[in-house]
Amino acid sequence: MDRIMFENGSWIVPEKPVILYANGDGIGPEIMDATRKVVDAATAMEKKSIAWKEILLGDRAEELKGDRFPEESIKAINDYRVLLKAPLNTPVGKGFKSINVRIRMLLDLYANIRPVKFMPGLESPLKNPEKVNLTIFRENTDDLYLGYEWSYDTDEAKRIRKFLKDEFNIDISDDSGIGIKPMSRYKTQRITRLAVKYAMDNNLKKITIMHKGNVMKYTEGAFREWAYETALNEFSDYVSRDDDKKIIINDIIADNMFQQIITRPDEYQLILAPNVDGDYISDAAGALIGNIGTLGGANIGDNGAMFEAVHGTAPKYAGKNVADPLGLIRGAQLMLRYMGWNRAADAIEKAIQASINEKKVTNDLARFFNVEPLGTREYGDYLVDKI
Ligand code: NAD
Repeated sequence: MDRIMFENGSWIVPEKPVILYANGDGIGPEIMDATRKVVDAATAMEKKSIAWKEILLGDRAEELKGDRFPEESIKAINDYRVLLKAPLNTPVGKGFKSINVRIRMLLDLYANIRPVKFMPGLESPLKNPEKVNLTIFRENTDDLYLGYEWSYDTDEAKRIRKFLKDEFNIDISDDSGIGIKPMSRYKTQRITRLAVKYAMDNNLKKITIMHKGNVMKYTEGAFREWAYETALNEFSDYVSRDDDKKIIINDIIADNMFQQIITRPDEYQLILAPNVDGDYISDAAGALIGNIGTLGGANIGDNGAMFEAVHGTAPKYAGKNVADPLGLIRGAQLMLRYMGWNRAADAIEKAIQASINEKKVTNDLARFFNVEPLGTREYGDYLVDKI
């Protein structure tokens, strides 16, 4: 039983690594139970095992510890650095920072990764949804979402407008709020490296840089330049703009990217995007396959990672044994790939495909297949049997 270590962004995984898990809120505990069972069956097949260690987060932490993000959970995250997390409720209200965001900041998880792949049986709005198999790499620590912004009527906004007028002769009207959009070479480089490594590890043939650099030249345009520069200079043996024996890298203007993933999804495999563009395109890509209950994602840094389902806590299904655990299982599958336990991840993939072929699915998909649904627990057990 040992912790996963990180060396220059590489994972050093012991025989029996400790992985933290948080049961989360709403349907969280049910889908986490099913997911851990499936992961344990798959890793056993590879003669490996995970030493799971629970941490409390969210509603349950508040109930038991009086704090949604207790000190001991923070300490465990700092110590062990790899976390499988079920969805958490985010109370609506001022001054509350989401736990997801706090974990991302704690571990400097700068890349948000979302693979989107169609599975037969999902109700997609596309005519040929089977062509959708792409992964979004969204930069998570730069850009407008850093929150440097001020309401039009604040002293700060007034001072910034005055500064711009005095120093640069830029006129901004008194009724304008102000936001700042920083984009740095360092943060662009590090996510580009991660994206290229992911493409190499997963046999992808193409990386597409998404940006609005034709208009925002020194932020999004710079993102494009720096991403090209990093991929082509640091990975010249593997990446090229035109040698199709290597991974091809190209770029597309953000608005066109939205059209392209709808009209020609099969031309895209990995989309590398700045924070705001990446946020928008992630949801659009998710919608292409018609069911967010089946999507998983990861937040990755150089010294830690958090894996999760894309969906939320689905409160109306909580405690009813009907939720689909696939989103969290997909998150765990990504985790296994980052651990280098690919055989376990492949075994899970095969089991999921079998469940679709045999129409053994939970309620969200059973409706489309016109079959009796399996419960969350029974679906987990079915996958375990298939592994
Ligand atoms: P949601 O994702 O919980 O639900 C959206 C719809 O999808 C609902 O109809 C829901 O029933 C259905 N759904 C979602 N997951 C499903 C599953 N596994 N199986 C079957 N159906 C599923 O989004 P919401 O209703 O907007 O948010 C509910 C709560 O979740 C909020 O408190 C929100 O803050 C939180 N949330 C958390 C995360 C996270 O922790 N990463 C992400 C999104 C939302």
